Amino acid sequence: MTLAELYALIPAVDCIPGCTDCCGVIPLPLREERAAFGNVPLSNFNGTPFSAYQHCPNADEGCKIHDKRPFMCRLFGTVSRDHPRAVGQAAGMCCPHGRQPKKPLSPERAKQLTIWYFELAKKERH
Ligand code: SF4
Ligand code: SF4
Repeated sequence: MTLAELYALIPAVDCIPGCTDCCGVIPLPLREERAAFGNVPLSNFNGTPFSAYQHCPNADEGCKIHDKRPFMCRLFGTVSRDHPRAVGQAAGMCCPHGRQPKKPLSPERAKQLTIWYFELAKKERH
């Protein structure tokens, strides 16, 4: 699977225009995403590069790189708030304003997409 194919599996959230309330530190394990994100200092957590800013430098009345935003930005808000297992980490992926896609992901599906994402990063490292 390519990164573009993975992105295509993530449904769009009906966001509040200009909102960046969920924007912050995100993982950037793939070169392509780091290039799109811009030249920012990175921190490292368990071998995974993360943007080092609590306030994302691309957040400015919305996302300045919306079409090229990284995987985790796309995934946030897509997990169903109504799913019986939308707890723990999955609940942390729900929009604080109650927004979600018309067809939200189950926590299990979001986890699967995340596994595929980190597999892509692993392939890139080898
Ligand atoms: S998911 Fe929610 S918090 Fe994040 S940008 Fe959209 S409306 Fe704002
Ligand atoms: S890249 Fe865009 S969507 Fe992702 S955290 Fe930054 S401003 Fe938000």
